[in-house]
Amino acid sequence: MIKIGDRGVEVKKLQNMMVRQGYLKDEEDIDSIFGPKTKKAVTEFQKDYGLKIDGIVGAETSREIMFLKYPNFSSKEFRCKCNGKYCNGFPRQIDEDLIAVLQRIRNKIGMPIVISSGLRCPRHNNLSGGVRDSLHLRGKAADIKAKGISVRDLGKVVVETNTHGGCGISYESFVHLDTGAKRMW
Ligand SMILES: [Zn+2]
Repeated sequence: MIKIGDRGVEVKKLQNMMVRQGYLKDEEDIDSIFGPKTKKAVTEFQKDYGLKIDGIVGAETSREIMFLKYPNFSSKEFRCKCNGKYCNGFPRQIDEDLIAVLQRIRNKIGMPIVISSGLRCPRHNNLSGGVRDSLHLRGKAADIKAKGISVRDLGKVVVETNTHGGCGISYESFVHLDTGAKRMW
């Protein structure tokens, strides 16, 4: 969490992003100090994105700021699919490495990726037949498909792109990838 009074590299990163998005005006606003101007920028950002307006960069706001870097994905696509029954959709933060890999895959195939499963709360994971220690529980896994490319071919792109994590094809209907240990199935 970062808030007014904080200083350092995380504040600088935030200010850079706020300048790029037009919430802060000048390069001189990038001073690594979370002052009133930065707070106002965060507040405006929260307004625009329908977030709780408190001027604090907590879990929700930092998630939305992270997604600004990945134009083809939004946080909503990764929500737990229990549809609010057992959690608020975001039981954990999403691993940025996962989104970065997905964006690279998206760039390679040149067509939209559908996230059939991203985050899962424990209850939803059980009900959907996920393994007990599923990486979906930790925001480190996604099941994907894409129109216009077969699951097999998408799987090949995933394997050549997600070189450090897990890749698998499930039921011939979607490709699983994660940022856990390197393995393949
Ligand atoms: Zn849930």
